[in-house]
Amino acid sequence: MTTHHHGHHHEDMLSVEKARQQILREFEPLDAETFPISDSVGLVIAENVRSGISIPTLDNSAMDGYAVRSQDVTAASQDNTVNLEVIETIAAGSLPTKPIEPGKASRIMTGAPIPDLADAVIPFEETTEEDFLGTADIKEIGIKMAASPGTNIRIKGKDIEKNELVIEKGHIITPATVGVLASMGMSHVKTIRKPVISILSTGNELLSPGEELSDGKIYDSNSSSIVASVMLLGAIPKYVGIAKDDMDSVRDKLAEAMDSDLIISSAGVSKGDYDMVKDVMSEHGDLQFWSVRMRPAKPLAFGILNKSSRKAVPLIGLPGNPVSSLVAFEQFCRPAIQKMMGKTNLERPIIKAVLKDSIENYDGRRVYARVVVTKTETGFVAETTGNQDSNILTSMLKANGLAICPEDEHGKNPGDIVSVVMIDD
Ligand code: AMP
Ligand code: MG
Repeated sequence: MTTHHHGHHHEDMLSVEKARQQILREFEPLDAETFPISDSVGLVIAENVRSGISIPTLDNSAMDGYAVRSQDVTAASQDNTVNLEVIETIAAGSLPTKPIEPGKASRIMTGAPIPDLADAVIPFEETTEEDFLGTADIKEIGIKMAASPGTNIRIKGKDIEKNELVIEKGHIITPATVGVLASMGMSHVKTIRKPVISILSTGNELLSPGEELSDGKIYDSNSSSIVASVMLLGAIPKYVGIAKDDMDSVRDKLAEAMDSDLIISSAGVSKGDYDMVKDVMSEHGDLQFWSVRMRPAKPLAFGILNKSSRKAVPLIGLPGNPVSSLVAFEQFCRPAIQKMMGKTNLERPIIKAVLKDSIENYDGRRVYARVVVTKTETGFVAETTGNQDSNILTSMLKANGLAICPEDEHGKNPGDIVSVVMIDD
């Protein structure tokens, strides 16, 4: 490891990558469950999906018009109307009852099955249909267009063949996926289940939003922002509340949190904290407290609670400062949750942008500066959202990206190219 030229020592600091690796290797995709498709968007499919049916299920009409034999209308044109006897009307959802013998036609609606012996559909616009507006029973129709076999017919199995492999295991469900599953008649599908994430805050100073503010207290914003972040990922947040900075309170809250796939706590992991919070967390497992070489979000706790038992639960202890907490969630919790959900691309998109102002890096950590990225004619431009202190939560409010200043650079200046992790969904 290097000693930074500013004189700060980083021997005891973990790089962001190392911390991420150490965390991610403790997570695996969760088990599969059968899940209703209506609630499945964003989840990962855990089976190869084959269709039990052909789609379309039958040859059907692509237009409202007349089902005809193409040989009967070869001579038809705008100036040469060919008259055919109309034998029935076929609505979508009902079946034809009569074959199309020479000289005959059936009125047919979009989506209705094609009758036997017909091989083309002539749309209403190319017939004398409008002459019969309001007529209940059309006896004869004039055809004004020739058609080759197959015209305006949607062929059975053209979209999906019966038994075809339609969706592969590992696919992330989109609204279109849900539509395709529904079109195959599936109300449920096997997916990687949603992880349950317990969330707790620690601190004697914390009040819940809605409570009356009193001197020296602050509102707990981390619980809310972490619950929201978990929801956005499609996982299930389980908020267990605020623990006081005493051993019993932390013990109680942790006990409530054990019934989950991951516990995310905030605060109580930095140097100035009551050591007992750390002690309680540690007594439940091999919890480690790290300094990660990043700004914001240097302090971080990670470990497995009840490691030797069957109910082992990983815990990520985020820093207390609200910006740090969200930035650390981005770096460590998001990929862990995504991995549990069966996702394989755990990275946010990173773009290059021209920096409008500057980013300071005075102690050799990796800086994640909150920026607004806009697209201009010459490319992306990034501008910091003002005060970058880790307690200025509104700096996160405006940001759609985190611009990186690497560990070994003193800072970035106006006009420099920066890498920006895009964090808007
Ligand atoms: P700590 O890590 O406990 O020293 O907390 C660092 C800073 O973050 C302190 O100013 C705390 O008051 C603040 N803080 C801790 N927890 C929360 C929270 N849940 N919501 C908002 N601020 C918090
Ligand atoms: Mg505290």
